[in-house]
Amino acid sequence: HEDVNTEIKKKIEKYWAGEVLQRNKDSGFQKKTHYVLPMFPYPSGNLHMGHVRVYSISDTLARFQILNGNDAVHPIGWDAFGLPAENAAIERNIAPSAWTKSNIDSMKTQLVQLGFNFDWEKEISTCDSKYYKWTQFIFLKLLEKGLAYQSMAQVNWDPVDKTVLADEQVDDLGCSWRSGAKVEKKYLTQWFIKTTKFAKALYDGLNHAHLENWKDIINLQKHWIGECNGVAITFTVYIDGENKTFDVWTDDPYKLIHGDFLVLSSSNALVQQLDPIGCCIKARNPVNSSEIPIYISDNVEYPEGRDVYLACSSNNIKDKELASELNIPVKESTLEINIEAEKQRAIDIALSKNVGGHFVSSKLKDWLISRQRYWGTPIPIIHCAKCGTVPVPYTDLPVTLPEISSSEWGIQTLTKVEDWVNCKCPNCQSDAKRETDTMDTFVDSSWYYYRFLDPSNDKEPFSKKCLEGHIPVDIYIGGKEHAVLHLYYARFMGYFLHSLGWTSTAEPFKKLLVQGMVMGQSYKLKSTGKYIPAEAVEKIGKAYKEKDSGEPVLMQWEKMSKSKYNGENPERLLSLYGCDTTRLLILADVPPATPRRWSDDTLPGVLNWQKRIWLSIRQFLQYRNDAINTSIPLEEYTKYENKIKGSRNYFTATATYHFKYTQHKEFELALASLIIMLAPVTPHFCSELWAGFLSAPKRLNQNSHLINWDKAVLEQTWPRVDDDFELSYMCKVDGADRCELKIKATDLLTLDHEKALQLMLEQEAIQKRIGNGILRTKYEWYPDCRAILHITTNRKVKPKKPVDEIVENIVSQ
Ligand SMILES: [Zn+2]
Repeated sequence: HEDVNTEIKKKIEKYWAGEVLQRNKDSGFQKKTHYVLPMFPYPSGNLHMGHVRVYSISDTLARFQILNGNDAVHPIGWDAFGLPAENAAIERNIAPSAWTKSNIDSMKTQLVQLGFNFDWEKEISTCDSKYYKWTQFIFLKLLEKGLAYQSMAQVNWDPVDKTVLADEQVDDLGCSWRSGAKVEKKYLTQWFIKTTKFAKALYDGLNHAHLENWKDIINLQKHWIGECNGVAITFTVYIDGENKTFDVWTDDPYKLIHGDFLVLSSSNALVQQLDPIGCCIKARNPVNSSEIPIYISDNVEYPEGRDVYLACSSNNIKDKELASELNIPVKESTLEINIEAEKQRAIDIALSKNVGGHFVSSKLKDWLISRQRYWGTPIPIIHCAKCGTVPVPYTDLPVTLPEISSSEWGIQTLTKVEDWVNCKCPNCQSDAKRETDTMDTFVDSSWYYYRFLDPSNDKEPFSKKCLEGHIPVDIYIGGKEHAVLHLYYARFMGYFLHSLGWTSTAEPFKKLLVQGMVMGQSYKLKSTGKYIPAEAVEKIGKAYKEKDSGEPVLMQWEKMSKSKYNGENPERLLSLYGCDTTRLLILADVPPATPRRWSDDTLPGVLNWQKRIWLSIRQFLQYRNDAINTSIPLEEYTKYENKIKGSRNYFTATATYHFKYTQHKEFELALASLIIMLAPVTPHFCSELWAGFLSAPKRLNQNSHLINWDKAVLEQTWPRVDDDFELSYMCKVDGADRCELKIKATDLLTLDHEKALQLMLEQEAIQKRIGNGILRTKYEWYPDCRAILHITTNRKVKPKKPVDEIVENIVSQ
């Protein structure tokens, strides 16, 4: 009979933890399984509020599926390789493996404390050789299919840390995020994955109807890939005793047969390897099997994102002018060519020779996956002086990352681990060296969602059978920051693995839920832009001032970050309010996709609401202990019963307000529905409420389909609208509401488009609106909720923009 304070909440959570963290019970019959996938975290050591939000959403959805009679796959793992872990480990002078492991342990504890019910038996970690063995396996498959290659590329070089940096690690002033050193441009031979080969398929795939809720992500992805209006072909050039490859992109593929010279910009990576400019270098054009001269110039309009231009002076006037500008000798051609036919012929040749020919935008680059750092998946390649680049045989995988003792820890690359680097060539057994680059961590995370479904397979990355019924992932939940790169690479991998026949569908994700960012209030001095903590700020009227100096302060909502002093620590919330309230706080009020402004001001409302439900149960039990109150006149009683019945079916939560008047059948059902529907969000709290509810001595709904009196709340069934409850079926004619019918829930279930139309055509209100005839109809049908029929008539539409029409008429004359 206590009030629900934090102490009680923690007792409740301890008591119910076992029940709440139980996985799917085997019910003995086949259920549909829903794959609820939140993006796996990078093990930084502590959960932040973004994690709390994403996993509260996924856990609630998984529990919702279970209450709806489905099973849920709800896995978690660790995106564990990468530069941040390596740098953090260096700062602490320990090995990244030890650092990462301890972070995983502490984050795992926090996830359990928050009551997230993950399939821990599916847990994977990308830095575990049992996982990266298969990342290497997939890399070798890419190599086998000609989709992994080495090429010279311009990279960001940090001269202090002696490492390559990703673009995101270089600040606006061109300095390293870590060392602060001015970043240099350097040309290095790097490994690439030929993602551009699937560019058009990935672009067109964005139009598939089964992508649900992708919204603006579709445009972000389309923008990233670009319109696939040209083709890329791999040419070769012989430099320093070696054949080097480079890509030529053109939106005029006939030039691949008839082109007569190439122009490269002076910053092109290949040009860096050439001896004094001017000597005549020729490349090999694989399409017409001829040599083509290379010229260097910066006065050419290169296609966006490219520094190579293929010219055809005989059939293109602009190219002819270019030739004369650059003093390039051209031979006059008298040959008339059929450009369309030659375009198709060039593409066919390129595709048949496997040298390119796939459609791609000019700006899209292949994926540079080389990292000159230690903490990543080793690229399974051996360099032999005689045989060249040799893939590590499949049977020798994994190529294990060597341990480095902490005493020698520092900025590391694999080049320093000589015992590991020196090896034998698998082909000729002579002395050889291992590739010392590791893979970009985005490779590790591009296929993990398949591995979750078959996490301990030691014969292959995953079996096709284990994916059945799970892929594409039903719902993928994560932040918008991964909407471009990660999602693009994961989709590429989905398409690639599908092309190998390993999966039954190419597109890996069905529905996306892009969660909104959790933002905190930050304060900075207007004069210097320096961030200061909230404690140092006071609010005077509507203005903010620094307490000590009185200087004006700017308040903003920004992404939480330590450096802005605007973070919230999930640990604090857990210890102050307990787990279920923390979950409720992060989910309440704001839809999942909307940015969340985190402030303590929102706490009282949620806390009070929770308290009210707690009190409702207590009062309910009290009433049930007393004799049923029959002092209310029957008419009034029936009125309130009906009112609650309506509310229960639509707005279950509001039932609490009517508690005072009726504590009878409908209230009991409403209360049960409320607890069941809240259980996915606050499973411990609702388990306790439910136990209280079940202890009521006099049950009024002994045989209701809504309540299973023998089972715990987590084993109940999600409430359904009563079969005889009448739902709305609305008809709109030319956009205006014209007729609403009430349809029993069971009848609505079978009301298809044809029947729905027939029903409305019988209504006088509709008949008088469709005199002009019906142009088309559209039917929106939401079972157990409502239906809407849109009728568009043949009414005369007045021109919206008469001026445009007039102009059009003039032009067409
Ligand atoms: Zn060899």
